[in-house]
Amino acid sequence: MTKITILGCGSSLGSPWITNYWGKLNKKNKFNFRTRCSAHIKKGDLSILIDTSPDIKKQILDNKIKNIDCVLYTHEHADQTSGIFELRPFFWKNKKPIDIYANKKCLKLIKEKYDYCFYGGGGYIPIIKGNLLKNSLIIKKKNTEIKFKSFLINHGLIKASAFVFDKVAYLSDCNGINKKDYKNLSNLKYLIIDCLKINPHPSHFNLDQAIQVSNLLKPKKTILTNLHTDLDYNFLKKNLPKHIRPAYDGLSLNI
Ligand SMILES: [Zn+2]
Repeated sequence: MTKITILGCGSSLGSPWITNYWGKLNKKNKFNFRTRCSAHIKKGDLSILIDTSPDIKKQILDNKIKNIDCVLYTHEHADQTSGIFELRPFFWKNKKPIDIYANKKCLKLIKEKYDYCFYGGGGYIPIIKGNLLKNSLIIKKKNTEIKFKSFLINHGLIKASAFVFDKVAYLSDCNGINKKDYKNLSNLKYLIIDCLKINPHPSHFNLDQAIQVSNLLKPKKTILTNLHTDLDYNFLKKNLPKHIRPAYDGLSLNI
């Protein structure tokens, strides 16, 4: 069995913002407390992180994640990468640098921004090993393996990587999918997809667009993530068809 947990489903500022701004969210509903987007995949002994958000320490503790074997990065934005330094205790635990996988541009930029994590310096020793993400990737540990497909999706001015594994697709930051990649997204059990807000946005699907993609790809279930402060959990739950659900922090899906 593969278990995927949405560690965070908030937009780049999370909710509430650092200024305690909640927008249209009902602050009494705990599902509206959203940390920045990241996810965790568990299968047998394998423990894989998607992205290292600025909230990664809280996310790992809240979800009682004891180990991390590797990290897959969707893209280089700060809300997906800036928690990378928090991986240090897992480096000590594993006694070897943690493998990360990222597309060419993302890997280059992460290596530049967090050079001390890769090369050491200023008193730090290297804790991360960078690997180029290919279209297909197999992560193995003992008798367990997960096969990932990866391809680039549009995310405003940049490209992000989508991950597909065990009939799950994770597209947390996306405003367009190339037609040629639809074949990678057929027969899904879960489509986890960017749905930033009600109004259109240049880098993210809005609610109408996320619903359109769901209708086109027809997964068994669609989970909306990267939710901004205008998308209240109960509002979404009440107004969406049953097969399209808003994510919440800590939501686990078993496959
Ligand atoms: Zn982004």
